[in-house]
Amino acid sequence: MYDLIIIGAGPAGLTAGIYAGRAKLKTLIIEKALAGGQISSTNVVDNYPGSIQSPSGMALSERMLEQAQDLCQIVYEEVKEVNLEGKIKTIKTDAKEYQAKTVIISTGASPRKLDVKGEDKYTGFSVSYCSTCDGPFYQDLDIYVIGGGEAALEEAEYLTRFGRKVTIVHRRDGFRASKIVVDRVKENPKIDFALNCVVEEIKGNEREATELLVKNTKTGELSVLKPEDETPIGVFVFIGHIPQTELFEGVINMENGYIITDDDMKTNVEGVFAVGDTRAKKIRQIVTATADGCIGAEMANKYLNGEAW
Ligand code: NDP
Repeated sequence: MYDLIIIGAGPAGLTAGIYAGRAKLKTLIIEKALAGGQISSTNVVDNYPGSIQSPSGMALSERMLEQAQDLCQIVYEEVKEVNLEGKIKTIKTDAKEYQAKTVIISTGASPRKLDVKGEDKYTGFSVSYCSTCDGPFYQDLDIYVIGGGEAALEEAEYLTRFGRKVTIVHRRDGFRASKIVVDRVKENPKIDFALNCVVEEIKGNEREATELLVKNTKTGELSVLKPEDETPIGVFVFIGHIPQTELFEGVINMENGYIITDDDMKTNVEGVFAVGDTRAKKIRQIVTATADGCIGAEMANKYLNGEAW
């Protein structure tokens, strides 16, 4: 029996683990893949206080993991079923069944897909959602980055290390990314833009994508984006994320798939908290995720010590 089970080891879950461990709660973190969540595949994190000396997302997540694993237990299993109602919560994974008095949900979000023809076919070969993981495969080739947010523009910049040219394909001519990043990208001689364009189809041969069929959102006109020498292309999709909350549907209250909590990270179910990108909120940053993690663990501790829900 654990005092607290944390589902998900991104920055929010690891921070909750650090605080719960320091409060001497018997704590288990369950992670289905790699600790660090989205930041482990982020090339540079330059807005998390203190990350400037060593800004790689992977390095930051490794430091968070190291700190958490000294204070609580971490297992790498996939949660398949949860029973969160009642005083004792049950979490079933692909390996075991666990019980706890409180649960923190920190399952984060996964990359949103374009949902166009060719995307699934070329995923893993020419289509990627992680430039740190796959950028080096596109050395001296043309790369297309889809999206106009912070992630798309920052990752496009990073991908210029590999590609001979990087084209940002965005459905508008305004960007969500911060001005400092937009200005930097506009000045980068290796970056081009295909604005007011949406991808209709990713086309190519059996294994590799070679062109994008795009539609102009203003005129409806279709055109093809491809390298002049017809070499294979890399397509990197950064169009936001979708919360990973299906496991909790019907039990935990949500808004557009994001879990509703109060300021103490409490959900509608007693003893269950939600923190990080999985929670309905306005600002999703590493620093807000870690803040949520701290609050969730501290409030779980108070609840376990008898504070009313
Ligand atoms: P955003 O939601 O900010 O941006 C998504 C982009 O994708 C938008 O430009 C959007 O277009 C476009 N888009 C969405 N759906 C589609 C679609 N179906 N087809 C084509 N384009 C689409 O997501 P990000 O992942 O960039 O950022 C999420 C959060 O994380 C933000 O708060 C951001 O600031 C933060 N972040 C911080 C980083 C850092 O600090 N180092 C790095 C990366 C992200 P439109 O604008 O027209 O809606």
